[in-house]
Amino acid sequence: MRADVVVVGAGPAGCVLARRLAEAGADVVLLEAGDHVASPRAGLLDVGPGSHVVTRHQARLGGTVLELPRGRTLGGSGAVNGGYCVAARPSDLVSWGPDWPRRHAVGLARAAERLRPTLAPMDPVAARVAAAFPGRVSAVAQARRGARRVTAFDAWDPPGAGVRVRTGARVARLSWADGAAGGRCDGVVLAAARGNAGGGDDDNADGEVVATDLVVLCAGTIGSAALLRNSGLGESTGHPVGERVQEHPEVLLGLPAGVAADVSSDYGVTAHRGTEPREAALVPLLSHVIRFGLDEAPGPTAPEAPEIEVRPYAVPLHHVIPGVDPMPLRLGVALMNPLGYGRIDADGTVFLPDDPRDAAALYAAAAIVADRLGLGEAEPVPSTSQHLSGSARIGEVVDHTGRVMGVDGLYVADASVLPTLPRCGPYYTVLAVAEALAAGLAAERPW
Ligand SMILES: Cc1cc2nc3c(=O)[nH]c(=O)nc-3n(C[C@H](O)[C@H](O)[C@H](O)COP(=O)(O)OP(=O)(O)OC[C@H]3O[C@@H](n4cnc5c(N)ncnc54)[C@H](O)[C@@H]3O)c2cc1C
Repeated sequence: MRADVVVVGAGPAGCVLARRLAEAGADVVLLEAGDHVASPRAGLLDVGPGSHVVTRHQARLGGTVLELPRGRTLGGSGAVNGGYCVAARPSDLVSWGPDWPRRHAVGLARAAERLRPTLAPMDPVAARVAAAFPGRVSAVAQARRGARRVTAFDAWDPPGAGVRVRTGARVARLSWADGAAGGRCDGVVLAAARGNAGGGDDDNADGEVVATDLVVLCAGTIGSAALLRNSGLGESTGHPVGERVQEHPEVLLGLPAGVAADVSSDYGVTAHRGTEPREAALVPLLSHVIRFGLDEAPGPTAPEAPEIEVRPYAVPLHHVIPGVDPMPLRLGVALMNPLGYGRIDADGTVFLPDDPRDAAALYAAAAIVADRLGLGEAEPVPSTSQHLSGSARIGEVVDHTGRVMGVDGLYVADASVLPTLPRCGPYYTVLAVAEALAAGLAAERPW
């Protein structure tokens, strides 16, 4: 098989790249490892045990072992995520380079046209928490239309632009023109059919080769790092792959019975005419967030002060994640400008950032929240925002066009390339950056 462009991964970034390059005249093949279709039910986070649409990655947070689920389906993690869309602030982008605030703004406008996220009414939990932090609440938009989730695959519709989409096609490694890693990339090697059918991610037996002049990796922060490394790129070739990843650390606080009582077991299911109850939309897990700066709460935030995002989850997580044990209603407290970096090891294990300065800020913030809400001595439960980024950063592994430095025919355009994590969930930023990188490639037409 041959194509002008091979895009690896049909997550948010992959759908953007595939559509835009096809619109620019390229014959594009989009390869997606997953072969199950995600539920279109808005509000559902199908990441629990038994999900057919995620890959689970081992992670360590200090001494704790966690599993990180990542979408493995058309739409990627955007098909299983909370769907909250918040734009990065221009000040988040200044350190990326002088042209990025403009490029991001243009990319975001194009992403907004396609995704058209919508606001939801404030739910009772958010209202309760917002009342304790006057003037600090912000609405967060959701990628949904009525009872349906809108994924990037829905919104960018790669097949509608002529893209050839193949599911159950897991790329095992890149192919090099002269056999040596880091020269010219001339295609990708799919995992043998046995590995695809079993979904076993360490089965890297070679299968079909897809030949091309241009490969764009959009396999996500963990997936793209694995592919670069499995193909021989890393420290030895001067590419610090996976060495400085970022995440928004989060702790969870249990809410008292008074708040939990407002949230009956049926709360959160919005019946839509013409749909079965089991298919009805769920309310967004997060309709609003509360933001404050740690040093000066509740006044204006100093630029370098730790910035906190309080996430009043509308329902207990077992209402929206199938298969998990019943759990209390909790709210999240996250640090949005962490100092710490983590890494992804060569064997794929994710070491989440574990910086004591961040932990101190986070637990101090949790104490403020517990105090304001009268939670008593609530014990924070360590968690993670699922916002991992930066395994192939612009300026370190790829240049400002997304091209892997010193390598011909190979680009990365997903959450891996974010030079720093913005002070919000990364979904919208990933889409905006993908649009910006796609616009550059479409202008250059290197195929
Ligand atoms: C549970 C969860 C909840 C989240 N909630 C939010 C939220 O509410 N708001 C927010 O802003 N962000 C949220 N995020 C983060 C957001 O979803 C991600 O930042 C975003 O999806 C990253 O997009 P991506 O294109 O980089 O990669 P991904 O979404 O990870 O997509 C990568 C795609 O590549 C495919 N792939 C991987 N390896 C291969 C391979 N070797 N061959 C072929 N295909 C491959 C995968 O199957 C997948 O489809 C959440 C993430 C998770 C996991």
